Amino acid sequence: MAFFEPDRYISRITMIDVKQDLIGRGFAHVLLDIDNTILTRDTHEVPRDVGLWLACARDAGIGFCLLSNNWHRGVHQLARRLELPLVSHAMKPLPPAFLIALRKMGASRKATLVVGDQLMTDVVGAHLLGMKAYLVCPLVEHDLKHTLILRNAEALLIGHLQPEGLGCQNSAPLSPAQPSAAAQTPAPAQPPAAAWELAPAQPPVPAPAPALAQPLAPAQPSAAAQTPAPAQPPALAQPPADVQPSALAQPPVPAQCLAEGGARHG
Ligand SMILES: [Mg+2]
Repeated sequence: MAFFEPDRYISRITMIDVKQDLIGRGFAHVLLDIDNTILTRDTHEVPRDVGLWLACARDAGIGFCLLSNNWHRGVHQLARRLELPLVSHAMKPLPPAFLIALRKMGASRKATLVVGDQLMTDVVGAHLLGMKAYLVCPLVEHDLKHTLILRNAEALLIGHLQPEGLGCQNSAPLSPAQPSAAAQTPAPAQPPAAAWELAPAQPPVPAPAPALAQPLAPAQPSAAAQTPAPAQPPALAQPPADVQPSALAQPPVPAQCLAEGGARHG
C-alpha cells in the first residue's frame, strides 16, 4: 500500500458492504468524515441513501465517531441529529484528533476504518497511524477554496486510479424510478371487439337545443327519452262523428220500455 494511496477508492460510501467490507475484514468501528462524505457541501443534507447506509451499519453493530476539521455549528447539529460522537476542529491529518476519536469509541486502530473524501487529510491521517482508509468521491463538486486546491494535489497523486462504481456515483438509488423507454411507447392497438361489444349500451343522447331562429318550436325529446304513450281507448269507445253527445249521455233504453212507454203515454 502506498502512503498516498487509499486502501480502497470508491465513488460513494454506500458501496461499502457492511457485512463483507467491514465486519468481514475485522472493522468494528469507523472514523467518519462529514463534509462531502456524508453531508453535501452545497445543501448541507445527508442524502437519503447515505442515511440508510449509516442506519444499516449501526444496526449491524458498527460503531461510529464523526471526525471533522469543521468546527461550525452545523457539524455539531448533525452529530446530535445522528446521535453520534464527534471530534470537530480535528486538524486532520495530524494524529491527535484521530487518537481522541479512537478513545471515545473505545476502539483499536486495527479494528477501525477511516472513511473520508480527502486524500491529504483523511487518508494520510489514517496512514500516519497505521490505520486503513477508504477514500470516497466527494458527494458534490462544491467545496471550500483550499479544499479545491488540495484536490489538484490529489489528482497528481491518484489521478491514475479509477473509483469503484464511478458510473453509479450520481445515481440516487431511492429516487423515484424514471419510466423506461418501453413504458413511454404508445399502447398497442386493441384487437377488434366482438360484435356484441361494438354496440354497448349508449346513454340517451340529449335532444339538441332548438335553434334560436325557431324559438317557439319545442325541443323534440329523444327516442330514448320518450315515455310510452298512454294506451288509447278502444276504437269502439270513440263516439262516431255524427252522433250527438247528448244522445250518448242518455243510457240506452230497452226496446221493451220504449214500447210500453209509448203505449202508456199514447
Ligand atoms: Mg470531507
